Amino acid sequence: MARKKIIAGNWKMNMTPSQAVELVNTLKPLVVNDEVDVVFCVPAIDIIPAMEAARGTNIQIGAENMYYEEKGAFTGEIAPDMLTDVGVKYVIIGHSERREYFAETDETVNRKVLKAFEHGITPIICCGESLTQREQGITIDWIRQQIKIAFLNVTAEQAASAVIAYEPIWAIGTGKVATTEQAQEVCKAIRDCIAEIYDQTTAEAIRIQYGGSVSASSAPELFAQPDIDGGLVGGASLKPDFGAIVNYK
Ligand code: PEP
Repeated sequence: MARKKIIAGNWKMNMTPSQAVELVNTLKPLVVNDEVDVVFCVPAIDIIPAMEAARGTNIQIGAENMYYEEKGAFTGEIAPDMLTDVGVKYVIIGHSERREYFAETDETVNRKVLKAFEHGITPIICCGESLTQREQGITIDWIRQQIKIAFLNVTAEQAASAVIAYEPIWAIGTGKVATTEQAQEVCKAIRDCIAEIYDQTTAEAIRIQYGGSVSASSAPELFAQPDIDGGLVGGASLKPDFGAIVNYK
């Protein structure tokens, strides 16, 4: 069965709640496309107003992060229940900015992934290499390690429903998009790695996005690749361009 594309915006630390409502209202007529799952991952405080603004549309509102404990003395963190209580179904886990600035590791990513599944939330699991790693020729080894640890103790059924975002760090927010060949090569390697951990059926079901300076002009070729099932989009998700990305064909 053909995989449904999934195109998600990552708003990062942008948009106040009132700006979020405005942005959803601007984008909602532009992102209509039944062939694609459309997700806006927004700052925690924007989730409820963005959801209200998106009600009745094809837009799903997701979160940008979540903690791996149920509740308690973890000042400033967001618990999985807090997300499911308002209807969140997707959460970005292990974005490279979280790894770099907030000390997230492959191990904490794995704990968050397991917790998200426990609560029926689909994780969008990020992986990606630095420029040094690419230049040293260790991209695939590095990504395989990230994937193998992220999926520790995850069942095949859970893995089949997961989303992986391959985001080369050197391409995030830099305007330097990976070539179609580079993106396809790594996304295929990720799928092969999933087949190795689980089986071919799971590998064929899992959705793998490319992320890193995706624009309306680069999206059509990237999303036409056999192992690229959509994108995780930062900067361009805050603009009307996101409509063109969602309607890339
Ligand atoms: C991201 O934040 O996940 C991302 C890919 O950002 P950008 O599209 O701006 O490079």
